Amino acid sequence: MKTDTIAAIATAVSDSGIGIIRVSGEKAISIVSHIYCNQKKQYLLNSYPSHTIHYGFVTGQDGKVIDEVMVSVMKAPRSYTKEDTVEINCHGGALMVKKILMRVVEAGARIAEPGEFTKRAFLNGRIDLSEAEAVMDLIHAKNEFALRTSVKQLRGSVYKKVKELRDQIIYEIAFIESALDDPEHISLDGYTDRLSKKVLSLKEELEKLLASADDGKMLKEGIRTVIVGKPNVGKSSLLNLLVGQERAIVTDIAGTTRDILEETIHLGEITLNIIDTAGIRNTEDIVEKIGVEKAKTISEDADLILYVMDSSVPLDENDEDIVRLIQDKKTIILLNKSDLTEVVEEKSVDDLIVGITGKSREDNNVSMIKISAREKEGLDTLENSIKEMFFYGQISYNDQIYISNVRHKEAVMEALESMNQVQVSLDNEMPEDFYSIDLMNAYASLGRIIGEEVEDDLVNEIFSKFCMGK
Ligand code: GDP
Repeated sequence: MKTDTIAAIATAVSDSGIGIIRVSGEKAISIVSHIYCNQKKQYLLNSYPSHTIHYGFVTGQDGKVIDEVMVSVMKAPRSYTKEDTVEINCHGGALMVKKILMRVVEAGARIAEPGEFTKRAFLNGRIDLSEAEAVMDLIHAKNEFALRTSVKQLRGSVYKKVKELRDQIIYEIAFIESALDDPEHISLDGYTDRLSKKVLSLKEELEKLLASADDGKMLKEGIRTVIVGKPNVGKSSLLNLLVGQERAIVTDIAGTTRDILEETIHLGEITLNIIDTAGIRNTEDIVEKIGVEKAKTISEDADLILYVMDSSVPLDENDEDIVRLIQDKKTIILLNKSDLTEVVEEKSVDDLIVGITGKSREDNNVSMIKISAREKEGLDTLENSIKEMFFYGQISYNDQIYISNVRHKEAVMEALESMNQVQVSLDNEMPEDFYSIDLMNAYASLGRIIGEEVEDDLVNEIFSKFCMGK
């Protein structure tokens, strides 16, 4: 465990009112006490009580004032890192904060690695690993949902849940082990029935957590959505309407060979990442021009397809091609131009879908709504349909715990796999020690979420993704 003193700029390095330099470690207070003086030019930081803030100056080696500052002192263990911590609030602006940081380094601190403060908070037992990861999620939160889940996770929601499950598992392990050690006093008669019930309920809980992982990821990062439809049905009008809700952020999708763009759009509480918006804007016909094949690959990447139809012109063979494309995908058909005389009725769309797929529209996971991109009508209904389709009609912030981290999801999957093994051993009436091996594995897998039983390498990797100063 390193205890040397680290320092970093904790605020964004840009033009700003104030900037904060954070210093943590055994020598934090004595280091800053060499470079900070009060109005009477006294260097007394060493003598200040914990959790106090002081007005004064940071001075250079020549004793000249560098900046006017407020310095706060937080003594171990009542600080973020559980170490002695000093925060220097100086004037903002990249130049000044860097200058003060360099002065702190000159006085004996080392520049912190990304995430090193939070890593120390974890290693010193102030927070568990899921809470540390929540800190990072909070910083990167892109929408209200992501913000709320990470705040909850930071306050220990995932930790509590994982601990509750692990307590139940360890109880069973302990029971089996003690019964095996002391068969005269502890009987395993009828135990397998009890364990079977326990395994079932634990599996249910783990499955619920897994289900939340997919919802959580989509709520946090957005639903990958593709808009398809024939020429002139109103795809770009719809896109513009959606984009108009809020300024869209255009991002490259990393790791794909295709040169496609994703645009982030907020529709009420939902975030949609619309794929290939350039394709919609630039090609006359997403199906004919870029080819059904390409539209197909793009759709394969999508969680949701918005299929725009012009309800004022009859359906034709192009619609048949598109219906083939949307099979087995969550799709919403938007009967656009509801302000014009209706030519395409819902019934004819239903018939088309049955004709091609042999299954009803509902069985194909396809819902249908009427909109008018021109009159800006139907976006509320669209939002509700999406919630219906993905989040059972509601996004609950309060009771549900969302697992929104891939690492956590993998651990839950492993735990579930181990519980399945316990089930198999039970079904095959294997000896009791078989149960405890798999129960132990489940216990260990869940432990990794909160940072127990994790390797140093993994810890280092997780924290390296943090930004500087956190
Ligand atoms: P795209 O080729 O599918 O992207 O279709 P556009 O968005 O370019 O729209 C084609 C034409 O339909 C344009 O003239 C739009 O103004 C018009 N349009 C789009 N949506 C509506 C609508 O809801 N009602 C009416 N009346 N016209 C619309």
